[in-house]
Amino acid sequence: MKEFEPVIGLEVHAQLATQSKLFCGCSSHGFDVPPNTNICPICTGQPGVLPVLNRKAVELGFRAALALGCKIRPTSIFARKNYFYPDLPKNYQISQYEEPFSEKGSLRLPGGRTIGVHRIHLEEDAGKLLHSIGNRDLDYSLVDFNRCGAPLIETVSEPDMRTPQEAYEYLTELKAIFQYIGASSCDMEKGEMRCDANISLREKGAEKFGVRAEVKNLNSFKAVKEALEYEIKRQAELLSSGGRVVQETRLWNEKEGKTAPMRSKEEAHDYRYFPEPDLVPLEADPAWVEKIKKEIPELPRQRRERLIKTYQLSEYDASVLTSYKDLADHAEGALKQVKSPAAYKVVANLEINQHLAKLNESKGDIGNSKVKPQQLAALADMTATAATLSTAAAKMVFEEMFSTGKNPQEIVKEKGLAQVSDDKAVQEWIKSAVSENQKAVDDFRKGNERALGVLVGAVMKKSQGKANPGLVNKILKETLK
Ligand code: ADP
Ligand code: MG
Ligand code: ZN
Repeated sequence: MKEFEPVIGLEVHAQLATQSKLFCGCSSHGFDVPPNTNICPICTGQPGVLPVLNRKAVELGFRAALALGCKIRPTSIFARKNYFYPDLPKNYQISQYEEPFSEKGSLRLPGGRTIGVHRIHLEEDAGKLLHSIGNRDLDYSLVDFNRCGAPLIETVSEPDMRTPQEAYEYLTELKAIFQYIGASSCDMEKGEMRCDANISLREKGAEKFGVRAEVKNLNSFKAVKEALEYEIKRQAELLSSGGRVVQETRLWNEKEGKTAPMRSKEEAHDYRYFPEPDLVPLEADPAWVEKIKKEIPELPRQRRERLIKTYQLSEYDASVLTSYKDLADHAEGALKQVKSPAAYKVVANLEINQHLAKLNESKGDIGNSKVKPQQLAALADMTATAATLSTAAAKMVFEEMFSTGKNPQEIVKEKGLAQVSDDKAVQEWIKSAVSENQKAVDDFRKGNERALGVLVGAVMKKSQGKANPGLVNKILKETLK
């Protein structure tokens, strides 16, 4: 088979974190309320009404664009994108076409590669169709207009990504940036972030791009990655066997793990774009743009670098801990409060290996976790310094903290988990472990270092995990000399 290089470009919709919709005063939080309650004559496209642009949406859009290093166009215009579909009562969507409000930015992946951002434009969302209730399929469809007119930005990347993994990292970083700056909460389950993926293959070394497919219906970053992996295989097989990729839109089928054609280029909509006659051009006041730029808070990458520098975290730990803002705030809150630098790494381990796992299991939010940063810091100190707690015991304490919200000191006391670093007690455990494991003792004396592990294990067991392992090692070696 020939060798191919994937070329990937992503189009990402993110819902701006405003209170109200893009062109009317309706609430834009349509997710938790009954269908068709956040609607008005404007967002349901009734005659005789006029749209009024939401200033906050523009501000958040500008903030997002500036955070990605985009240029803000001094004047941009809104355009009507015309199509007929039951979720779109106006029969057109107000969007931006030829003159979007921003363009020419970039996003640096944690690994260092830079992906171009072609443009970002503002547009309104459509409604939502319901084809089933619970698991019951309907033989009709229901429509909910709550989301109609909600403010979105569409971020279109350059075709600069080369692997599904890079696409995944781009999305993760984009989401983190939008969340950090408060532009969007990017909750995919609420439809606040959606992605279409464009992918083509070219022969290794070729300059010209191949024909692309656009994949839709991607409900998670994992789905994006899997769909791209599937497309790479499909297109490579097609091209290798003398076939051709046709330009088309394909749908990802999560259950089957496949993409299938939705519509070809010939069937593509003609949106008959034209300038929106009901809105004046959007003028970006340079002083306002400058002010928004100045107010952009620390971005994930800067925070990552700062955590590495200040707390000697590894690249990996820092990138996991900064992947979303609430997690970074929690971890940093704990890092700030530990007493010994030896506990920094323990904080990272507790957050990543214990806390995230537990939150994942319980589908919980770190913002509402019973474990407060200060308590995590205390636990990390107890584990790292003075060797008061073994790693296994720390895990037990954490679990108890997670379910009860108690302080670690209290749990350690209640459960008698404090590590024993008292020579006498340790010697007693060693004495009985040695007498019960004569073979391991002989082996060790014959030079088998691994036999020591058996003995340490036996001592730990005798102490119910409470013996200080460093001390056990030291005294054992002295005893066996
Ligand atoms: P459309 O509006 O028809 O979707 P665009 O030109 O706006 O087309 O491109 C959409 C996305 O497709 C962009 O993210 C771009 O980077 C990507 N793209 C364009 N050409 C290719 C290609 N040959 N292979 C992969 N991605 C591509
Ligand atoms: Mg497209
Ligand atoms: Zn409305």
